Amino acid sequence: MKLMLNCKDVHEHASDYLDKRLSRRKRLAIWMHVMMCSHCRRFMKQLHLTITSVRNLHQKQNDDTKQLADALHQRFLEIHKKKQ
Ligand SMILES: [Zn+2]
Repeated sequence: MKLMLNCKDVHEHASDYLDKRLSRRKRLAIWMHVMMCSHCRRFMKQLHLTITSVRNLHQKQNDDTKQLADALHQRFLEIHKKKQ
């Protein structure tokens, strides 16, 4: 991953970033972009809220809800991809 990312790069790796599944170098590159880009800051906030809500639902509900939550998460990512 290059050091200076564009918004598309950040959106593609946002879930992994929030789940801390990236190397230190990749996390730093994303963090640097997010600090400079209000669009990606807003995107990260919304994605974080979505993931948190989905996980809370997972704990309270059964497998049907898990499928619905996964579908919502996917849809959220698709909508943000189209906006670029
Ligand atoms: Zn950006």
